[in-house]
Amino acid sequence: MGAQRIEVAHTQYYGWALRNRAALLPSREQARAAHEAIGQARERHSEHIAIDYVAPDYLGRYPKPCMNGWGQRSMNVAPDGTALPCHAAATIPGLVFWNVRQRPLAEIWQASPAFEAYRGTDWMRKPCVSCPRRETDFGGCRCQALAITGDARNTDPVCHLSEHRHLIDAMLSEPAQPILQRGHP
Ligand code: SF4
Repeated sequence: MGAQRIEVAHTQYYGWALRNRAALLPSREQARAAHEAIGQARERHSEHIAIDYVAPDYLGRYPKPCMNGWGQRSMNVAPDGTALPCHAAATIPGLVFWNVRQRPLAEIWQASPAFEAYRGTDWMRKPCVSCPRRETDFGGCRCQALAITGDARNTDPVCHLSEHRHLIDAMLSEPAQPILQRGHP
């Protein structure tokens, strides 16, 4: 079809995926097999297509640099014109989002309260605030911190330095479950 780049990503555990994490989380062996398969596919198709791979961060020691840092590089515009720092940002209560129908993109990027909320490192708490990786992973994912610890300002619990890492480890040890569907809990 002429594509030059594809991305293969493991599930991100938000919303229904978080509810269904016990069915969707790969084992370490499954994740290793996926990593090897992607490596082989990259070698086979390297002349024609780039293959990005997003590993399951629950199995790592550090979180992903979500959106390459909040308000650093990306803006999502919802169908109603709401400008979001990430596709799931509206799950965080208390953020004020500006709309492209009312303000220019540049103004939204530079001054929107939602983009300013977690941009840079000033918002960080311990251990992120003094961590040498704070401008590498930006403390991980705000939505994941909220979903699992109850506070978007916390360190992403995937990080092994987070006081909430035990919550991720507990999920990893949950036995596999059938997937729930909306309306059929
Ligand atoms: S403490 Fe924060 S900045 Fe340091 S590695 Fe963990 S998430 Fe990243």
